[in-house]
Amino acid sequence: MNPSALSDYEIDKIQDEFGRLKGKCYLDHAGATLYSEQQIESVYQNLRKNLYTSPHTSKATEDLIDQVRFRVLKHFNTDNSKYDVLFTSGATASLKTVAECFDFGKTGVFSYVQENHTSALGMRESVESEATYVLSRKQLLENAEVAKVCKPEQPVASASNNLITFPAQCNFSGFKYPLGLIDNIQQSGLKTMGTVLKHNNLSLSDGKQNRWFICLDAAAFAATNFLDLSRYEADFVCISFYKIFGYPTGLGALLVSKRGQNVLKKRYYGGGTVKIAMSKLDFHVKRDCFHERFEDGTLPFLSIVALLAGFATIDRLIGPDHSMERISLYVFQLAKYGYNELRKLAYANGKPLVKIYSHTEYDSVQEQGAVITFNLLHDDGSYIGYAEVACMASIHNIVLRTGCFCNPGACQVLLKLKDSELQKHFQAGHICGDYNDLVDGLPTGAVRISFGYMSRKEDVDTLTHMLKDCYLQGREGRCEILERSTIPENLLHIRDRLKISNQKIRLRQICIYPIKSCGALKVNDRWELTMKGFKYDRCWMIVNANGVAVTQKTSTKLCLIRPEINLQRQVMILYFPGADSIEIPLQSSENKIVSSSLCQSKVCGDFVEGTDGGVKVAYWLSDCLGMDGLRLIQQYDGTQRLTRNGEVRDITLSNEAQFLLINYTSVEWLASKVEEWFDVDGNDIDGIVDRFRGNLIIETSEPLEENDFQNFKIGPTQFRISGQCTRCQMICIDPRSGEKTAEPLRTIARLFEGKIRFGIYLSLADFDFSRPNFVSCSDEVVVE
Ligand SMILES: *Cc1c(COP(=O)(O)O)cnc(C)c1O
Repeated sequence: MNPSALSDYEIDKIQDEFGRLKGKCYLDHAGATLYSEQQIESVYQNLRKNLYTSPHTSKATEDLIDQVRFRVLKHFNTDNSKYDVLFTSGATASLKTVAECFDFGKTGVFSYVQENHTSALGMRESVESEATYVLSRKQLLENAEVAKVCKPEQPVASASNNLITFPAQCNFSGFKYPLGLIDNIQQSGLKTMGTVLKHNNLSLSDGKQNRWFICLDAAAFAATNFLDLSRYEADFVCISFYKIFGYPTGLGALLVSKRGQNVLKKRYYGGGTVKIAMSKLDFHVKRDCFHERFEDGTLPFLSIVALLAGFATIDRLIGPDHSMERISLYVFQLAKYGYNELRKLAYANGKPLVKIYSHTEYDSVQEQGAVITFNLLHDDGSYIGYAEVACMASIHNIVLRTGCFCNPGACQVLLKLKDSELQKHFQAGHICGDYNDLVDGLPTGAVRISFGYMSRKEDVDTLTHMLKDCYLQGREGRCEILERSTIPENLLHIRDRLKISNQKIRLRQICIYPIKSCGALKVNDRWELTMKGFKYDRCWMIVNANGVAVTQKTSTKLCLIRPEINLQRQVMILYFPGADSIEIPLQSSENKIVSSSLCQSKVCGDFVEGTDGGVKVAYWLSDCLGMDGLRLIQQYDGTQRLTRNGEVRDITLSNEAQFLLINYTSVEWLASKVEEWFDVDGNDIDGIVDRFRGNLIIETSEPLEENDFQNFKIGPTQFRISGQCTRCQMICIDPRSGEKTAEPLRTIARLFEGKIRFGIYLSLADFDFSRPNFVSCSDEVVVE
């Protein structure tokens, strides 16, 4: 690595302050970068030792805040003679402030580049411009080529103002826009106006006579680059501090040039932003000082103070001189290394594994930031869905981002999607942020990795190893073994075969998971049903000290907790390897409900309430799992789960539906497709079945028959099919050891063309309250 970036010594020194990264590979710095441990320590010491009061109370706090403003400006190589700092809640709030306050005058127009963050796109809804134009990236870049004319801004005929918004660095592709654009546009306007999005008057304003103001979305750029505001005098600069320092969150700034200060008008006031406000008369006078006029309410003063530790950390770890330039170069070199490594990955047939979306070849730090966005391809060139890659990464402790990263414009351009295709994706049910990764074989988003100054070359290597391991390695090329093409045909014939063979379907086993995410209780005779599902299924959950449910995603050891239920004695007995067992009553006694605290926790986005199981089991759990402050919570009997939308759901703490059905025959078939499991025997198949955490384990004559069920009945009980189960990394945890493996997720994704589904959800179609209801393994199973 180039010594002018960071030396090996410096890189090691940085690692010392990021001990929590050990064994983890964090590649989402564009989402949020990380704070150093020393940084947090110094914030803590500072708050411990000082009496900070409201800035409205104490001049000392106010002065300190102004000191921080000064420090912020220094970071951007400017001072308060040229810029003022408005503290906001983040870059989004800064963009919104500009949109709401910019004074367009009579004929001002608003213009934005297509490859903007949604926070900038949203500006078009609240600007009071006469017309709104959208420019392609290429159209914007044409203005970079204007010969630089060193003349003062021409006096203009009209008093109206135009505004243009573009990012300094694109958060999707990492492309850096030439900042020379700022001066060129301020002086000469735009060469092309682009496409009209909307306008007010009959005669369309082109804003030709008006002055231009630049709103620079520097949220992504400022994270790892030096933004020199003495050279590039953007009028409005929007940033978020957690993207630079990792901490604090909820704090950003809008830097406003003197020129820009003249064209921001403000209506609302609140807190200390007025000199006087009369409560019964329509009279108020806003303060003169620019930031005092704009910062409504009480500033997050403790967070603002914490910024000083952020600057100090960069100074300490990178050195006070040219620190941001050195970070910029270092992370660029990492990205370039990553770009080259990813491009080397290819299948045996020579086809590339990785398709990278970028506007550059990663050859210039001037044009390319520390972001690599890509999708994976099969060896025939078809796409691998990003949801699968996200799961694989998660299994390997790699944090990366998938989707469109709030930049639909860049996503559309770089993925070459037509407007009509985007609309089709939306109609097919895809919305931003979901896991609908492929529609008709085309990606709806991508995978993004991004670097910070605490990233290392090894992080890139961890990712490329994972990709090689999951997609390229294997005997004779994985794909031939999997015979991908034979599957759909196989599926097609199943219904016919079912009709002809009419083979009996057998219920092999009933599995109950009394504690969410923990081991199974296996039943080979019969078990009682309630209107919510099997009795005691997911009735308990373990929550951490914050009251958040602990799942196997964060603690794989959970599956080693094996519950047993003794109905005669009305107790649940918990076992854990190497620990004494512990008993807890199935019903918490009356007294206990009163004495135990009511806990609220979220399960898959739903809020649930329950009673606390007390300290004894709490200590037992904390000891076994090696996590402090755990509690066992029993779902409050009779409570229903409230979903995110406030709907009531009649299920316990399970994720989706009342029952999950898994077909042993399908698991056997799947295991035969997983290369690493070629030599498994029947006993091992049971272990694989356990990974899927089904409640009803059936056995059919052909694999995947369950996907075709229309009707399902066990004995007298009629079930409703509520769809296929989408799987994630849970199935990659071996319930016998708690270890994570890439299989069987990888094979499922491959076999079902990216759709990571296995097993089907059921719920009770009708329920007879008048008598106890049981499901028995000897019952007849009838399907249609
Ligand atoms: C992160 C980001 C934003 C939004 O920042 P918030 O901190 O979420 O307000 C806007 N634009 C770009 C380019 C970004 O990277």
